[in-house]
Amino acid sequence: MSDSIDRIFSQIDFYRGEVISLQQELTSRVALGPVNGGSGEHEKTTYIEEIIRELKPAELEQVNAPDPKAESGYRPNLVALWDGKEDLPRLWILSHSDIVPPGDLSLWQSDPYQVRVEGDKIYGRGVEDNQHGIVSSILAVRAIIDSGLKPLRPIGIAIVADEETGSRYGLCYLLEKRRELFRDTDLIVVPDGGNETGTMIEVAEKSILWVRFTVLGKQCHASTPHKGKNSLTAAARLIVALEKIRENFDERDELFSPPISTFEPTKMEANVENVNTIPGKDVFYMDCRILPRFEVETVLERCREIAGEVSESLSVEIKVDIAHKEDAAPPTAADAPVVKSLSRAIRLVTGREARPMGIGGGTVAAFFRKAGLPAAVWCTSPDTAHQPNEYCLIPDILTDAKVFAAMAMEA
Ligand SMILES: [Zn+2]
Repeated sequence: MSDSIDRIFSQIDFYRGEVISLQQELTSRVALGPVNGGSGEHEKTTYIEEIIRELKPAELEQVNAPDPKAESGYRPNLVALWDGKEDLPRLWILSHSDIVPPGDLSLWQSDPYQVRVEGDKIYGRGVEDNQHGIVSSILAVRAIIDSGLKPLRPIGIAIVADEETGSRYGLCYLLEKRRELFRDTDLIVVPDGGNETGTMIEVAEKSILWVRFTVLGKQCHASTPHKGKNSLTAAARLIVALEKIRENFDERDELFSPPISTFEPTKMEANVENVNTIPGKDVFYMDCRILPRFEVETVLERCREIAGEVSESLSVEIKVDIAHKEDAAPPTAADAPVVKSLSRAIRLVTGREARPMGIGGGTVAAFFRKAGLPAAVWCTSPDTAHQPNEYCLIPDILTDAKVFAAMAMEA
């Protein structure tokens, strides 16, 4: 290990108190978007801006996305950049400032907006999602500066709004207005998803398709089934028939966990209120997570074919339509420079071998990938996002700060 890396790492080892106090301040500044019943991320972003200003970035900029429903009519995004060798790709670390509401307060053991520290755990809404990333990226830069050093490669920290409610006023706006901030060769890390060992580097996502099936029969009294057409029976038959869709799209891709496309019937809308009525209308949904190699349209077509067969054999009408659809972004290559650099830094800090992986859920990195920027989602975390008693682990944040610092100091 080089002398400068050594110095930076020992510096980070002293930051336990910093992690706690930053988490305290951030958690008390509640950043809820208007869709989640809040006024926006202003107070929290202003606080982060003050902290970052102390670290004397070469550039510090607020990019405000107009949003009439938010305080002062905008949502704040923050971008800070520290110089390094200009011929080296920049390291970008992007986190989001907004949080989700705490949900049922009776499930929390303490005030979600006042952190509680228990050993290495810090509890509070937002401490992991996504203050973990905010704190680890800020401490990485701070450790380099506190060690009397400068980052070798330019390093940027971006704090965006609106991640939890669609990113329209966050990363999407930033990419629309300031796309030139990001170069194709930059190393972009989004510390907003990971596993406990810090060995999962997320590089790809599946397409998401939610299909709504509306089965129309004929309602009647349960004692005279011959007078109606039972839509629930037909829906049940359809659910069973839909199982064969897995065989039609059964290719595997070991990059993903799980390595297959998934097709799961989920929500069923309420039908009749009483037991002695045969329902004439049933609506249910299927959640499909589709490997990027398949076209979403072909899955929908197959759903329609299967529905057609059931419709014909039971003489009921079945409508098939899209409740939600998101085509997968082009994946970040498993050997992209950001993946390699991250893997080297993880090996240096923890001695562990990380693995590029694909997941079924959607992350904000998809917007980078759709813009042609190969981003990686990575952090070390117990994954308690959106849960009551959300917590983060202080050693994880220190580990991640070291990984980011190592990436910044890598020639
Ligand atoms: Zn998040």
